[in-house]
Amino acid sequence: MTNIIIIGGGIIGLSSAYYLLRQGHQITIIDRTDMLDGCSYGNAGYVSPSHFVPLASPGIVKQGFKWMTNSKSPFYVQPRLSKSLINWGMKFIKSANAEHVETSAIPLRDINLLSKQLYEDLCNVPGFNFYYANKGMLDFFRTDENAHHAEEMVETSKKLGLDATLLNKQEVEQMEPGLNMDIKGAVYFKCDSHMYPNKLMKDMIAFITSNGVTIKTGEEVKSFLKETSIVKGIRTNTSEYFGDQIVIAAGAWSGEVAAGLNLNIPMVGGRGYSMTFEDLSFKIKQPVILSEAKVALTPMAENKIRFGGTMEITSTNTPPKMNRVKGILDSVKKYFPDVEIPFPEKDKIWFGFRPCSADGLPYIGKVSKYKNIVIASGHAMLGLSLGPATGKLVSEIINEEATSIDIKAFNPDRFN
Ligand SMILES: Cc1cc2nc3c(=O)[nH]c(=O)nc-3n(C[C@H](O)[C@H](O)[C@H](O)COP(=O)(O)OP(=O)(O)OC[C@H]3O[C@@H](n4cnc5c(N)ncnc54)[C@H](O)[C@@H]3O)c2cc1C
Repeated sequence: MTNIIIIGGGIIGLSSAYYLLRQGHQITIIDRTDMLDGCSYGNAGYVSPSHFVPLASPGIVKQGFKWMTNSKSPFYVQPRLSKSLINWGMKFIKSANAEHVETSAIPLRDINLLSKQLYEDLCNVPGFNFYYANKGMLDFFRTDENAHHAEEMVETSKKLGLDATLLNKQEVEQMEPGLNMDIKGAVYFKCDSHMYPNKLMKDMIAFITSNGVTIKTGEEVKSFLKETSIVKGIRTNTSEYFGDQIVIAAGAWSGEVAAGLNLNIPMVGGRGYSMTFEDLSFKIKQPVILSEAKVALTPMAENKIRFGGTMEITSTNTPPKMNRVKGILDSVKKYFPDVEIPFPEKDKIWFGFRPCSADGLPYIGKVSKYKNIVIASGHAMLGLSLGPATGKLVSEIINEEATSIDIKAFNPDRFN
């Protein structure tokens, strides 16, 4: 039996534990929070094979500079003198090109489709009921430029074997009857699905703990117990833990944690906000992305609807910016002119930090410097989608089995 320590109890850490459990390992998850409200909870709940374009793509850098002075914009990089931000930024700019987008599409498609299949399997496991729905996603567009982009996306999706259709406004109206929409059309990504992530996290925790996984909350990993190429354990603010294998799944903080082992895992936090309303008269039948505004709307569990958006590359210590929340709600009004959404109380506004790698692809695999360190992080806006696949891959890596898909593109050593 192998003793495994997992640093981080978000969707990636929990999924890793879930798949490792099957091989009968002894597993301890360590998280510095109470694991009730992190990035894996308040997200939009999408499982997104449609997202085969990595964050580092042409246009994003130019667009980022344009939006820098707009306090309500969907993408923003807070300028600051930080060595890790500069390290990340230089690599991000270098990766944001057409060739990178092309070579990333197949690895992203494959890991997404694997994960979607695993979610469907999970729905049949007793104890899991996370409102998973296979209804697809509507990607609305309002401008001619985006109408053209939508055509290209449908074509590329089809080439990748993904189910996507271009819809005109009347066709969208048939799918979302009774709504006044100021749009030109939408791409209907039938390949996508969605869920209520808060419930998934609850179900996962209940399942793994009742099957023997130990979870230590309120403990922060501060340093490692090293012996040349082997890491024997970790030291937290209160205790020491010894393990044969250590998985770093610390989300946006994985770069900092890995730096304790002198590893270069470029990472920044991409803050996003969401608001969940119950019994709002405004209802949609399926998830909707407002393409130009980069806002996601999700019908969730019973009567809930969640609005989420913005990508604010900032320090994880920066206080939340209410103007960005206003930006999300203002953009809903642009697409749905009749809809009035009350600005929520401050304590109803959720935010979380997406773990953004420097090229928009996750880091999954062993590092060459140590025999027993696995990195599982950097999934940016796809962490929920890719949770089960990442967990399964982590278990295959630790068990020294052939991996379900090719993971070369996710090599955590790629920036060393
Ligand atoms: C607004 C918004 C909408 C999103 N929508 C979607 C979506 O629809 N679909 C999708 O796929 N993804 C979505 N995402 C992204 C997704 O939520 C993240 O990619 C995912 O939650 C990351 O999971 P994780 O386990 O890597 O990190 P986290 O969930 O952040 O977990 C990492 C854990 O590590 C712990 N930790 C960190 N440092 C230490 C330490 N030193 N010691 C101990 N513990 C530590 C933290 O406390 C944390 O609990 C969205 C994100 C946002 C913000």
